[in-house]
Parts: sequence; structure tokens; C-alpha cells
Amino acid sequence: MAKIRLATVWLDGCSGCHMSFLDMDERLLEIASKVEVVCSPYVDAKEFPKNVDITLIEGAISSEEDAEKLRKIRKNSRLIVALGDCGVTGNVSAMRNLVGLEAAFEHAYDGLSDHNTGARPCRVVPKQLERVSALHEMARIDYFLPGCPPPADAIYHILTTLIEGGEPAIFDHTRFGK
Ligand code: SF4
Repeated sequence: MAKIRLATVWLDGCSGCHMSFLDMDERLLEIASKVEVVCSPYVDAKEFPKNVDITLIEGAISSEEDAEKLRKIRKNSRLIVALGDCGVTGNVSAMRNLVGLEAAFEHAYDGLSDHNTGARPCRVVPKQLERVSALHEMARIDYFLPGCPPPADAIYHILTTLIEGGEPAIFDHTRFGK
């Protein structure tokens, strides 16, 4: 049987969801026997490939770069799972929506300076959107796996179920903010 083509993507998140993926520990060997990881922060793939079966996406959409990546991922993925609360609702990544982009920049960058030199950080980040969005606001998402981060057991459940072509019982394994 051909292996499932799996991708994991890190957009505007803290990487905690990807850390939780690694917390599957020895079960990673079982997953690895069933999938080919075609794109992920875990492997050295620069471009999102075509014909991906399952894509897990961590993080919200904060920049034009994130939005463009999501469009490409949607076009080339059979199933997309929003991995974690940031992808599902915006969560921590969307907190800047409360104050607006300029105020967030002011606080995060312009208000800071190096204690020793007085130098200020520059805004060397991808062009930010005015508003941070959850994934489903920008593209069709097939499954939502909440949690901050989702527990490894929940990631294992959804992956193994989808690999077998089943329907995951997500809320038996996780909840928002877990
Ligand atoms: S859901 Fe939580 S753990 Fe995952 S990226 Fe967001 S803040 Fe980090």
C-alpha cells in the first residue's frame, strides 16, 4: 500500500503544536511506517509539494506570506487539519487584533531598544495583515484539532484515524485551551 503523503506547516504559532507532535514519542515510529513526510519543519523541504494527502497546519494567518502559503496548501492538499487553537480560532496569535497592528508594532518593536547600544530592532518581518485570521476565515479547513497545544494523544488519534480513512472523534481527546 502506498504511503500517505503527510505535510506539517508552521504559520503564525509558537511551535508548541509541533513540539506536541514530537511528544507522540515511540508512536512516531508507527506513524513513520505509514506516511511519507513530504514537507514539514522537521524535514528540509523548501516548497510545498503537490498531491499531499494530509496537511496539519499550526498557527494563524498574520502576514501576506502566511495567506499565500495557505492558498498554495489548500490547492495541493486533500485534507487540511487546523492543528491547535491558533489555527482554529486565532488564539494567542490574534491577540494583537485587540489593539491593532500599529500599536502592536509600537509595543513589540519601536518601544524596545538594546540596553547596551540603544539600537532599536527594525521591522524585518513579512508584511503583516491588519487583522490576524483563523485558518477557516481564509480557506476551507476539513478538521479542527483544538488545544494549546493539542495533546500528543489527540494528534495521534486524528492522524491514525485519517490515515485509515476513518472519522476522528476529536472531542474525546482534546478541548480548547487544553
Ligand atoms: S495553539 Fe498554543 S501551542 Fe499551538 S501555536 Fe498556538 S500558542 Fe503555540
